[in-house]
Amino acid sequence: MKVTAIETFAVKGLSSPLMFCAIRTDEGITGYSEFGGGRLANGLRGLVKDLSAYIIGKDPRAVEAHYIQMLRVSQEAYGGATWQAIAGIELALWDIKGKAIGMPVHELVGGPTRTQQKVYWSHMLSYQIGAYEKLGTEPIRSYDDVRQVVSQAAAQGYDTFKTNIAFPGNPFTRLDQGRSGPHDQTLTRETLNAAVKQLEVMRDEVGPDMGICLDVNQHFKADGHIRLAKALEPFNLTWMEFDNLDAKSVRMVKDSTSTPICTGEQRLAPLNYRDLFELRAMDVCKVDVQWQGFIPSRRVANMAELYDINIAPHNFNGHLSTFQTMNLCASVSNVKISESDPVQIPYRDELVTELPEINNGVVTISKRPGWGTDLNEDALKKYAV
Ligand SMILES: [Mg+2]
Repeated sequence: MKVTAIETFAVKGLSSPLMFCAIRTDEGITGYSEFGGGRLANGLRGLVKDLSAYIIGKDPRAVEAHYIQMLRVSQEAYGGATWQAIAGIELALWDIKGKAIGMPVHELVGGPTRTQQKVYWSHMLSYQIGAYEKLGTEPIRSYDDVRQVVSQAAAQGYDTFKTNIAFPGNPFTRLDQGRSGPHDQTLTRETLNAAVKQLEVMRDEVGPDMGICLDVNQHFKADGHIRLAKALEPFNLTWMEFDNLDAKSVRMVKDSTSTPICTGEQRLAPLNYRDLFELRAMDVCKVDVQWQGFIPSRRVANMAELYDINIAPHNFNGHLSTFQTMNLCASVSNVKISESDPVQIPYRDELVTELPEINNGVVTISKRPGWGTDLNEDALKKYAV
């Protein structure tokens, strides 16, 4: 079998484009992946094109060898978007291999380690605030609206959700990933008060048994994360999640509070996780199959196991992303819970040929070959950026 062509697609998403890759072969099998962070869509597509030179004409099934080759030829541009582009190709190669053998990807690496995986409802309130026009829903105007939105988690059988900081107003607004807004890497009194009020309302609405996570991304420096984590202790969070590339700062935050700390999604390379593990800086380890690739995310999960830590896969994109993530979960021993976005772009279902099976916040691991779904390329073109 030989690779004949590699193609990428960027589809309009809720907050950034959804990125897909197709690898075609001379035996009629096409491997698909969902990969990368769409804010760098043009760059990622260019990187995949450059890396294709090392894959086209080769037998796609030696996935690990191709992965190593792509790493070595791009060594001078290690990490970041390069890493995500390698993931785009590597993931599609796994899909080909699974389809060629007639097995799901997790079977190829010794799975399944589980037949089901619990997921949490992510971006609870956040998309309803930040993307109501694309969703065709009503904006959030009051804490009563917040109560109404958050009550959906239990109503649909989920026992955990994740939210982001929201500011009251008409309509409500949210912190935008640390890139813009008045906070400028500072936890202002206004932001702290908004977070405390939001968690107070949410905890009161859902009761003591619902898991609540808060993701504050890279909004603040360590001092802000420390003050926030301490202020939120009364609400018994499942975790507070943030991103900080300095592991000692993460450890400072963890040492300062009883609120469990989750981090890691931006580290990409297993090497970049090492200091987090050695410093015991996190309670829960974020990995991202779409950003890291399957081989590296499994390596990080296995490292986490050595350090007695569970992973929580990052997964906020299209359905193929969920299938890829579930194959990771079904191939490792240490998953606390996985991310899932029940609310997404209205045409998300059209982009795939199979939907993930999710009931009461639990995904049944697909037994279909490869990742478990094909992409609908007509729909990818219809909703292209
Ligand atoms: Mg996060």
